[in-house]
Amino acid sequence: MGDQGVPIAVYSTGTANCIGKEFEIPRNPELFCRMIDDAHTITLDVAEVVGRRRFHSFVGVGFDAKVVEELAKHRTGAIVMSAYARPILTALRSYAWPKVAVEVDGEEVCREASFVIVSNIRNYAIMEAAPAALATDGLLDVCIFQKPGWFALARYALGAFTRTHTKDRDVIYVQGRRVRLSTAADGVPLQVDGDQGGYLPADLRVIPGAVRFVVPAHVARRLGGSRTPLERLHRRGSRRAPAPGGATPRHHAVVA
Ligand SMILES: [Mg+2]
Repeated sequence: MGDQGVPIAVYSTGTANCIGKEFEIPRNPELFCRMIDDAHTITLDVAEVVGRRRFHSFVGVGFDAKVVEELAKHRTGAIVMSAYARPILTALRSYAWPKVAVEVDGEEVCREASFVIVSNIRNYAIMEAAPAALATDGLLDVCIFQKPGWFALARYALGAFTRTHTKDRDVIYVQGRRVRLSTAADGVPLQVDGDQGGYLPADLRVIPGAVRFVVPAHVARRLGGSRTPLERLHRRGSRRAPAPGGATPRHHAVVA
């Protein structure tokens, strides 16, 4: 990602399809093609786990990352929701609730978090963890759940389903450009866009306006996007990334 000259269109065929939901990308192939033809784009922030990889949606540290770590041990290819059942059971038996320190823009926000989500978008799997997130504002949204334990986690999950968790007194919700996640414990994993993303400590930073992203017209209007005539997209595509054999790439279509 990151080539401003070639807008990206994502057709959702994944498990959670968070990006597709966030930007209301049509699943109907005909409507999807019409969206590309309409050529409305927004300039989207991405983010980076510094020194490791970029991400478009979110990073999680806590029970979710433990589940993803367990899943990664046995995963052989594409997954479906039911593939999470065994890793969840394993994590339920073994998760030790390590304490995580969270710094945002150089300031300590929480010393003993139990679960942290740093997000570029509102959606998080089947819930909405970062309701104030906007992928065009140059900021990351940081949602910190402080209390450890299954009872607290169940309460937080219910809150995220009903979009009331940010009112919970144990939840800290802030925004910033740089986030540092660290811990004194060993082997605390993080998940990055739903994949195993290594272990703490981790430094995250937003990369404002890194990608031009094709969205439906009404989403472009809501997020301050613009319409780029398709001919111009073609010219930019051919100038920046000539395809083998002379064909001109119109968009990078990413299946996620
Ligand atoms: Mg943002």
